[in-house]
Amino acid sequence: MKKRLQQRDCQGFAPYSLLIRNNCYNGTKTDAKVIKDKKRLVTSYSQIESYLTCPLKWYYQYVDGIKVDIPPSPILEYGNAVHAVLEAYFKSWGRLNGEAMSEIYNREVKLRGIEWDDLEQGLKDTRDAVAMISRIHQLPDKYEKEGMVNLTKIEALFLSATPVGIEESFMLPFRFDTPVEIQGEKYEGMYISGKIDLRSIYKHKILGDLTYYVDHKTSKSLFSEEKLKTNLQFPIYCMWSLHKYKILPKRCYYYFTRTGEYQDLEITQERVDESIKRIKYISSRMYDFKSDINQTPATNSNPNFPLCYWCDYGKYNSGYCKFSSNYQKKKI
Ligand code: SF4
Repeated sequence: MKKRLQQRDCQGFAPYSLLIRNNCYNGTKTDAKVIKDKKRLVTSYSQIESYLTCPLKWYYQYVDGIKVDIPPSPILEYGNAVHAVLEAYFKSWGRLNGEAMSEIYNREVKLRGIEWDDLEQGLKDTRDAVAMISRIHQLPDKYEKEGMVNLTKIEALFLSATPVGIEESFMLPFRFDTPVEIQGEKYEGMYISGKIDLRSIYKHKILGDLTYYVDHKTSKSLFSEEKLKTNLQFPIYCMWSLHKYKILPKRCYYYFTRTGEYQDLEITQERVDESIKRIKYISSRMYDFKSDINQTPATNSNPNFPLCYWCDYGKYNSGYCKFSSNYQKKKI
């Protein structure tokens, strides 16, 4: 059955979610605010990622405002439930025990009405959440029995650093080299909005306060080397850190909740500078409404683009996109 599509009525303001407008905003990705009394161009890391994955998908979602009227996927909701557990744990400064964390997880699953399409997957997700809770709950005992040397770097961070920012929202001003024009209005720059899962400070006896950023990932596999090198998420967080706190964090960690593994990065000033250049280039294409470069389907370069299978606009979902590949899950 085809899923219903809704297009939002923004009375002629086509790029509806690119702009923060109180009177023309239904709110999916950005907060409905006028910043400093002015209409602002706003993006986020996930918008940029969406654009890089498939410009046309970004265009459907953020410019045309075509919304598929279906409940959020169990994958997404599972991720939110796990994030809620970790948020509560760090907000309690690590005082929540395993039982309390399990209760939060169960409550979140219930509240969100998560219904897994596949029983096997549901069981696996639940086992992974229980394993994460148990690993975190047992950290003090592990430290007691085995000492700091046997803890992984992320475990040591969780135990010894102080969480100072949990699910911290930010709105980073970002200036373009060349202003963009949208519907007759010029924008000198944009805001990048986002939320950082965890910011912790470790008080080092000699080096002083060291800042660490952590992003929790509920995905099943680690990032490839290439993805680690090019992903803009931590560079954006570091731009915010420089803007707000005038420091670069000591390290940034992706924490994979299913296995307890982590990948850590040092984001240097050089990487920040490169990322700024890259975001300027990407945004010049995203906001190029004079050409159709911001409506290029990913299938142009890869006719078998596998992500069409999961895309809301793809053939196996709403079927809205006529460029969707025919790929089916079993072939991936
Ligand atoms: S179905 Fe494929 S080509 Fe079409 S918007 Fe989605 S990802 Fe892009």
